[in-house]
Amino acid sequence: MNIKSVADFIDEHEIEIALKQASRADRFMVRDCVEKALSMAGLTLRETAVLMHADGELREEMYEAARAVKHGIYGSRVVLFAPLYISNLCTNECSYCALRNENKEVRRRWFSQEEIAEQTRILIEQGYKRVMLVAGEAYPKNDFQYVLDSIATIYATKSGNGEIRRVHANVAPPTVEQFYALREANLGVYQCFQESYHRPTYAAVHKSGKKADFDWRATVMHRAMASGIGDVGMGVLYGLYDWRWETLALLQHIRELERTFGVGSHTISVPRMEPAVGSAVAAKPTHAVSDDDFLKIVALLRLAVPYTGLVMSTREPAELRRKGLGLGVSQMSAGSHTDPGNYSEHEIDHDAGKLEAGDHRPLNEIVREVADLGFVPSFCTACYRVGRTGANFKNMASHPHVMSRNCDTNALTTLLEYLCDHSAGDTKVAGLHMIDMQLEKMPPTQKAFVTAMLERIKRGERDVFV
Ligand code: SF4
Ligand code: SF4
Repeated sequence: MNIKSVADFIDEHEIEIALKQASRADRFMVRDCVEKALSMAGLTLRETAVLMHADGELREEMYEAARAVKHGIYGSRVVLFAPLYISNLCTNECSYCALRNENKEVRRRWFSQEEIAEQTRILIEQGYKRVMLVAGEAYPKNDFQYVLDSIATIYATKSGNGEIRRVHANVAPPTVEQFYALREANLGVYQCFQESYHRPTYAAVHKSGKKADFDWRATVMHRAMASGIGDVGMGVLYGLYDWRWETLALLQHIRELERTFGVGSHTISVPRMEPAVGSAVAAKPTHAVSDDDFLKIVALLRLAVPYTGLVMSTREPAELRRKGLGLGVSQMSAGSHTDPGNYSEHEIDHDAGKLEAGDHRPLNEIVREVADLGFVPSFCTACYRVGRTGANFKNMASHPHVMSRNCDTNALTTLLEYLCDHSAGDTKVAGLHMIDMQLEKMPPTQKAFVTAMLERIKRGERDVFV
């Protein structure tokens, strides 16, 4: 098994050299990198570092390339999902997080399986089809079975025509045995953010608990992939250290997985540090990332790893999310709350909160806005359910016409399902208009094929996908 215990694939020297050499890049070098990125072949560390220096009109050229690459691979669809926070118990001491062990300002709580079923029902009734289960890095009675039971509960919960079709999870780095159990539990994506790849920074902000072990965390994706979990979600917490350095280190990590397992990261998230209850570090990040640089990061990642889904969370304000969609974001959490209990209005409990979320609008508003902006809101979960995961997914993604045809088709069928079962008024009008517009753009054969699928949904069939 290809399991590492030391993250020796993070080569600080290579990162420093790439950044240093790129600082001497001229406009011709930048344009060469933009040109290469347009071929959708991805970028090396050095090329990515060069594009970090694209400013003014060069930045606009890079943004145009990011838009073209995103559209070429993902079409117009944007997948929507909800995080479901099931527990805020934690034994770690991350100085930027409200849930750190020693923070007494937070009331600790965790959901029973009945409560998880209730929260799931609320999400189903809003129209969600995929959730990201999130827990603090400790479990009730210190028993990992809690995570497995929670996944089973979410899958087992039904309401009307609805169900959650794919459960992803962001939980403490598991052991190999635990990954096997997650695979048995039908886990979708395993997500874990390294937070910082810069060892001195990592040590300074992770003061105690298992998370203080940099290597245990940084090698978690090796354990996941060696156990047969093909889809992993990665990211850093922007604001802890220099964003340029962290982005290159993240790419090194992805390249290592590609070399070892033939497939890199399924998704990358781009969280920025936000204020957190009882955290001075989070109130004033030492390497705060401006909105402009944040958008640059989105575009860079879209160009450097073109087949990787880019996820933006509700932490970012609506205006920035709008811009991010154009530049490369392919998935968004929508209408989400980050406090255990918050999907039930009568149970709002801000003292149990983790991080402030920036965009609290309900799902139907986000759907309408995404459609008004010219993107197709999608609730698709097809790939995970027909085995297009890991290397199989990469294979599909490396044929952009196949991927965008599947994504476009499934986006329309799942959107229509949502409109039939969960929407009314302006959202329904905007969604139906979007479906008509997309059909008009399709070649006749594809249009006939998709129209037939949409008719099946109108007749009451559900879960229709390719
Ligand atoms: Fe715990 Fe995660 Fe918060 Fe760290 S970031 S204190 S591990 S919940
Ligand atoms: Fe994602 Fe696959 Fe659905 Fe496209 S077809 S939206 S890649 S699950």
